[in-house]
Amino acid sequence: MVEARGIHKFFGDLHVLRGVDLVVPRGSVSVVVGPSGSGKSTLLRCINQLEEISAGRIYVDGELMGYRERERNGTVELQELHPSVVARQRSSIGMVFQRFNLFPHMTALANVMEAPVHVRGLSKAAARESARALLDRVGLADRADHYPAQLSGGQQQRVAIARALAMEPELMLFDEPTSALDPELVGEVLGVMQDLAASGMTMVVVTHEIGFAREVGDHLVFMDEGVIVESGPPREVLENPREPRTVEFLSKVL
Ligand code: ATP
Ligand code: MG
Repeated sequence: MVEARGIHKFFGDLHVLRGVDLVVPRGSVSVVVGPSGSGKSTLLRCINQLEEISAGRIYVDGELMGYRERERNGTVELQELHPSVVARQRSSIGMVFQRFNLFPHMTALANVMEAPVHVRGLSKAAARESARALLDRVGLADRADHYPAQLSGGQQQRVAIARALAMEPELMLFDEPTSALDPELVGEVLGVMQDLAASGMTMVVVTHEIGFAREVGDHLVFMDEGVIVESGPPREVLENPREPRTVEFLSKVL
């Protein structure tokens, strides 16, 4: 589903991603962990093209993201795609951030309806019906008419997940979705993510929730200083880390 090959990312002189290879099979959950500043958010942002990569290729569902290959004088060149094509590619990827980023002046229902109506061109009636179903799916059927300020952090994050799902993504990226939550609200959000994984959604999740990685993850990826240091089945990596840097990191978070 996702295939990232030799990804490099510079911010000016800062070499943030230093040759990342990541394969996320369809229907699987990859959990990415690693110290602050190791490049986890940048990797997610590159996958959905919020950031332009400096080198490498990213395929989603077999399609090269952001570029088109063109052969010229015997060499393959990359040509940037038209913004409308990039927008279409991006619309198949949902993203959920640490901060919920809901529109404060809109109800939960209106937040979930917004993109389907304005981006996908759905009728309001159709968007409303599917938004209600999505709010029901994240356990918020009775909060549809509440504004973000009237919802707890955990409820807001579940609305944010419903809002991302409203675009019918093929892939969901989560960047520390529970880090801004009070501890007692973490479980309800992880529960929704677990249900989503069980429904077959392909997911890449950056999180410090090692329990989630162990129970829900198919693949655990440990990043440090812009490279994937170690990856594998979560239990294996957690119980028998091979790399000293992984051992050190896990000793701090477990
Ligand atoms: P955290 O766990 O703290 O969220 P992270 O692993 O997600 O960290 P990134 O946010 O990907 O790390 O940042 C990796 C490095 O890239 C950091 O040194 C950061 O300061 C730098 N960086 C990220 N975004 C930008 C930007 N837009 N411009 C310049 N530098 C950036
Ligand atoms: Mg981050």
